[in-house]
Amino acid sequence: MKKVPMRKCIGCNVSKPKRELYRIVRDKEGNMHFDPTGRKNGRGAYTCPNLDCVDMMRKARKLEKEFKVHIDNEVYDRLVEEIKEYIEKHGGGAIGQ
Ligand SMILES: [Zn+2]
Repeated sequence: MKKVPMRKCIGCNVSKPKRELYRIVRDKEGNMHFDPTGRKNGRGAYTCPNLDCVDMMRKARKLEKEFKVHIDNEVYDRLVEEIKEYIEKHGGGAIGQ
């Protein structure tokens, strides 16, 4: 059996298979993007595909802890919006990859 890569959700701190999580990527210019394909270059942080974990990530400023940089509220707002939009369109759940 192939080993499934596991990642920890920064919202609820539960480890899950990487492809069941949403990825947020920080590129080398320091820009943060929601990365639904999981394939963008940069350092990644992961969250469960549900709004509870996304809200928790925002409230507890988990991305700052993960990437060890200051992140503006607008950046959090934009990421949360992008993820919410994606969940609305795709109904959440695993990412097809
Ligand atoms: Zn979670």
